[in-house]
Amino acid sequence: MTEENQKIVTRFPPSPTGMMHIGTARTALFNWLFARKHGGKMLFRIEDTDRARHNEKAVTALINATKWLGLDWDGEIVSQYERREHHVSIAQKLLEDGKAWKCYYSQEELEAIRKENGGFKLPRREELESKYTPSQTEEYTVRILGPVEGETTVSDKVQGDVTMQNAELDDFVLLRSDGTPTYMLSVVCDDHDMGVTHVIRGDDHLNNTFRQNVIYDAMCWQKPVYAHVPLILGPDGTKMSKRHGAASVEEYREMGYLPEAMRNYLLRLGWSHGDDEIISDAQAKEWFDLEHIGKSAARFDFDKLENLNAHYIRESDTDALLKECEHFYQKNHNITPNVQAISQIKACADELKSRAKTLIQLTDESAFFAKDVPLNFDEKASTVLSPDALAILGHLEKSFEDCDAFTSLDIQDICKVIAKEYVGGKLGKVAMPLRAALTGTTVSPSVFHVAEILGKEETCNRIRSAITAMQ
Ligand code: GLU
Repeated sequence: MTEENQKIVTRFPPSPTGMMHIGTARTALFNWLFARKHGGKMLFRIEDTDRARHNEKAVTALINATKWLGLDWDGEIVSQYERREHHVSIAQKLLEDGKAWKCYYSQEELEAIRKENGGFKLPRREELESKYTPSQTEEYTVRILGPVEGETTVSDKVQGDVTMQNAELDDFVLLRSDGTPTYMLSVVCDDHDMGVTHVIRGDDHLNNTFRQNVIYDAMCWQKPVYAHVPLILGPDGTKMSKRHGAASVEEYREMGYLPEAMRNYLLRLGWSHGDDEIISDAQAKEWFDLEHIGKSAARFDFDKLENLNAHYIRESDTDALLKECEHFYQKNHNITPNVQAISQIKACADELKSRAKTLIQLTDESAFFAKDVPLNFDEKASTVLSPDALAILGHLEKSFEDCDAFTSLDIQDICKVIAKEYVGGKLGKVAMPLRAALTGTTVSPSVFHVAEILGKEETCNRIRSAITAMQ
């Protein structure tokens, strides 16, 4: 069947182990795009069978991170754990059909047998039972009765044909001795029951595919199409992790990245459409395919992500952007801009947006609008506000008082006149103290524009306050 006439069903099945790794996010994105492109469905399943390490907070974090990324799913979220009884019934059926067997050896016995057989592999059932007798006949695990001869080929959409000798496989466990199903069993049952047609996941699962196929064959179920995507590496070529700075979606959000930039970046990291770097959602949904997923692992490039973020910040609607910024004004500056500050920030928005690489930068360079005097002067601003600079500010303030229109051009002209009169025409020697006085920092949009937006009264007020504070 071709993708055109088949109803595509993909799935996003994360395990709730903590924050969402960006590799997981990229897998979700690929599944989402593939489903959306073909008018299919993306299902969301939480693989929460590991009860010892289960943590509801991690489930909530996964859902929130998926929503923040802008990915939606079809139907209710499925809990794998809640389907466990069904998984057990499939193992029972395999037992009844003679396609699985009860293994009575204890952990210790299996360890000893493994050791005797060279370390890691167990002999297959026939050999095992003919050579070793278990010490008890009450507790057992249920193991698949896998093929011993021949070979299995997985035609992977990314990796191509991958072949494994069946002798390399093992009779893996379906039900543990406490009766609980394993991941290997649950994932196959769920994918089958949910009608999953395409499994797009990290290539760390490629080996599992051969085992999962044994279950599909034993149950006579149709196998999905597989696409195993290479891992994401850090800039140094090792698996992307905390060591590289930030490895989770939540961390990138906290660093001031926009979800659209993350989507675009993660898409390009591992998939290509010619040389296109900036790809809108609409284009992504139209163009995405499995054939252009890269075969080799991609390295994370922070500069590229930052450039894309800068692009999406510039393109964003200002109101929506300021909504996203609320969190950073609060967290980093302990402020909630009021209506007046918001309208001042908006008056400066084009410049702020064209400068900012992250929302943190945008909030850092505009928070001063929402602050009251006396401002807190950062270290650099304090250095700029030397006694000489304070004298200049005194002159400026007087000239400003006499200026009626107070447009940024008037303000710049006044600064030029003062510069000529006191500092040999060096405009920076006037503009920098003015910036420090108005913003408490040494980085901001054009200080002439900032002064105009603040208005004459507030500008003079901030200058006087700076002089008093630093004298
Ligand atoms: N729950 C698995 C994981 O988070 C995914 C399994 C799969 O995609 O088959 O790695």
